[in-house]
Amino acid sequence: MKFGRLREKMVSTQIEARGIYDQRVLEAMRKVPRHFFVSEALQDQAYGDFPLPIGEGQTISQPYIVAEMTQALELTEDDRVLEIGTGSGYQTAILAELVHRVYTIERVRKLLITARKILDQLKYHNVVAKCSDGTLGWPEESPFEAIIVTAGAPKIPDAFVEQLTVGGRLVIPAGNRFSQALLKVVKHEDGVRQINLGGCRFVKLIGNNGWKEE
Ligand code: SAH
Repeated sequence: MKFGRLREKMVSTQIEARGIYDQRVLEAMRKVPRHFFVSEALQDQAYGDFPLPIGEGQTISQPYIVAEMTQALELTEDDRVLEIGTGSGYQTAILAELVHRVYTIERVRKLLITARKILDQLKYHNVVAKCSDGTLGWPEESPFEAIIVTAGAPKIPDAFVEQLTVGGRLVIPAGNRFSQALLKVVKHEDGVRQINLGGCRFVKLIGNNGWKEE
């Protein structure tokens, strides 16, 4: 199986080799067929060490960054996770392998429709998706044990911290339009604690509490 072999190699050389240790995350990355989430013309590149275009000016994130962000969420099976920026649906599928229920929001309807179709085809029935401005979070379904934002924000929207449980984790790239810091924010009874996981570059988080549309 050509894609199976490429996927195995992706996990060992790009992800394990760079220090991702969470066995459940590694297992999910070994399982989810990433090539389903890109156009046919790009399938041969699906397991490469880079992001790829998915249309509408957006990208499917590099495999390593997906693994790094997922590990930072410290997920357990009973968690409910909110994802902002469904995009291709690949990160959504990784999350759906790891937790009870995934809520995902995408602002570009066309991308969401395509992602939903693939997630259904792969039988990820624990994914609830909607098309709207994710910078507002999903108050009706909150609180969440984990929130992951896969687009770069100018600053951390308050809504995300408000919609976390105490002990909940938020992973979000924040910075300017060209580069961001990948931040992990943990909510405690008496406030939040934040760590910087390093530099990164994401497409823009556009919305009410994000960048304004151009
Ligand atoms: N996790 C996705 C990343 C896609 S890129 C993947 O690996 O495929 C980021 C996505 O965030 C884009 O699809 C973009 O349309 C979406 N996005 C940007 N601002 C948003 C917002 N306010 N609400 C929801 N989605 C948003």
